[in-house]
Amino acid sequence: MQILDGKKIAAEVRGEIAAEVVQLAAAGKRIPQLVAIIVGNDGASQTYVAGKEKACGECGFKSQVLRFEDAITEQELLVQIAKLNADETVDGFIVQLPLPERINEQKVVEAIDPKKDVDGFHPINVGRMTIGLPSYVSATPAGIMELLKRYRIETSGKHAVVVGRSSIVGRPMMNLLSQKGAPGDCTVTVCHSRTKNIKEICRTADIIVAALGHPEFLTAEMVKQGAVVIDVGITRVPAADTKSGFRLQGDVKYDEVAPKCSYITPVPGGVGPMTIISLMKNTLKAYKKEVYG
Ligand code: NAP
Repeated sequence: MQILDGKKIAAEVRGEIAAEVVQLAAAGKRIPQLVAIIVGNDGASQTYVAGKEKACGECGFKSQVLRFEDAITEQELLVQIAKLNADETVDGFIVQLPLPERINEQKVVEAIDPKKDVDGFHPINVGRMTIGLPSYVSATPAGIMELLKRYRIETSGKHAVVVGRSSIVGRPMMNLLSQKGAPGDCTVTVCHSRTKNIKEICRTADIIVAALGHPEFLTAEMVKQGAVVIDVGITRVPAADTKSGFRLQGDVKYDEVAPKCSYITPVPGGVGPMTIISLMKNTLKAYKKEVYG
């Protein structure tokens, strides 16, 4: 069994990005800039945005966090987005989700210029990705594909089972794993809360992507010997022995599943770091105008 070390690979990618930024600075060029919008005081959102800001610093990017009160109206938020769309010094920006319920998230996502949509949530980017055109791919699936690529995991002709069908993880994963070329060329089954015989389906998988948000859902009896297991889940569970009072729990019952796997991602240190670094990669792509020219 080999661990898919997301922390290590993310550091490798970060080094490559930072080296490019050093060259840009040496040539007197503008430095890439990522902006994050955050509304309200949700603890998890604050942590995610802080992580993204830190990653920007490590890559040598400029970054800004625009913080707004929970009371901001949808219209006011749309005005902020229009400003960022027009600002030529901003290469990419993200709106940290979730937003307060009164604000229509879809409307906000669709207001972002697809050329600056480094989260890859805009329907234009989603659509382009599904038909294999250059696009910004949502950071978590992009990070998983990068991990498979860098560990040279053979995916061609394999049966991949994706558990979860969200628009930011499960569905793009399904598309990317079935795309033509490496890593891809899988036969993909997508499972969700209405799937029958999920145990039996998982047992036939060469590759399992668990992205449902149920701690320790995937048990050893659901995994065949030699499978590749990617654990996307991160749920905060109470823990008396940590300073914060909680710890992050994956969707895989790691201790019993790991011995059966050929490769497995740990939680933390697997998909999480790859997600953040993929956002940085997308920002550099936006700076270099690689997707839309
Ligand atoms: P989501 O939007 O809540 O979607 C969960 C999906 O899982 C849904 O499609 C749901 O089915 C399915 N599901 C729920 N219970 C199930 C069950 N018992 N059996 C089979 N399928 C079931 O979640 P998400 O945004 O995709 O995130 C999933 C997990 O990944 C969460 O723990 C999240 O925190 C984590 N995550 C981690 C990263 C990272 O960087 N590591 C990034 C993003 C998300 P229905 O569609 O039928 O409801």
